[in-house]
Amino acid sequence: MVNKESVIQLLEETKDLTIVAATKYVEADDIRVLASLGISHIGENRVDAFLSKFEALADLDLTWHFIGHLQSKKVKKVINKIDYLHSLDRESLVLEIQKHRETPLNCFIEVNISDEDSKYGLNVSEVYSFCEKLKTYDKIHIVSLMGMAKLTEDKQEIKKEFNKLVELKKTLNKEKGLQLKYLSMGMSNDYKIAIEEGSTHVRIGSILFRKEGL
Ligand SMILES: *Cc1c(COP(=O)(O)O)cnc(C)c1O
Repeated sequence: MVNKESVIQLLEETKDLTIVAATKYVEADDIRVLASLGISHIGENRVDAFLSKFEALADLDLTWHFIGHLQSKKVKKVINKIDYLHSLDRESLVLEIQKHRETPLNCFIEVNISDEDSKYGLNVSEVYSFCEKLKTYDKIHIVSLMGMAKLTEDKQEIKKEFNKLVELKKTLNKEKGLQLKYLSMGMSNDYKIAIEEGSTHVRIGSILFRKEGL
C-alpha cells in the first residue's frame, strides 16, 4: 500500500531531483497510485517482475529504470523496454547490451563504494579503464555513476562513501573528457545525506509503502 503522505512529503523534499521509486515491494496497482501522485520514474530489480509490471502499465507514461543486478542471459528480454540501467558493472554485460539494444541506452556505472564483497559494482579504481573501453560501444550512453552506501547508522561513514562517487565523477569529467551530470545515490535510510552530497537520482522504496511515514 502506498503511503500517500510520505510520497507527498518526499516530493516536497526532493523538488529538483528525480525520485526513482523502487517498486520491488509492490504490484502494478500501487505503481498506478504512485503515478497519480506524480512519481513517474519507476525502478525494478528483477526481470520477470519488471516485464509483468511493464505490460500491466503500458497505458501510463512512465520512465523505467532497471536498478538491480542484470544477468547477461536476461538482457534480451528487457533491454529495449527500459529507459535507464543503474547497474552497468562488467564488460560481458556491455557486450550483451551492444548486441540487443536498438538505440543508445542511458546507463549508470555501478560502483562498489562501500567496498563490501556482498555488493555488485566496480571498484573505484576500475572505473577509469572501464570508461575507456566503453567508448567503442555505440549502444551504451554513460549518464553517470550509481552507488550504494553501507547499511549503517554512522552518518559520517555514509557521507564518506557517497563522496567517493562525487569525486570519481569530477575526476572522470576532468581527465576522461566526460560530461557526467547525474549521480544515482540514496535510498530510504540515507537519501537525505545523499542529497546533501549532490545526488540527482534517489532510488527510494520502503518509505513510500511504510505505514508510519517518513
Ligand atoms: C530496493 C532498492 C532500493 C530502495 O531501497 P529502500 O531501502 O527500500 O528505499 C534502491 N536501490 C536498489 C538497487 C534497490 O534494490
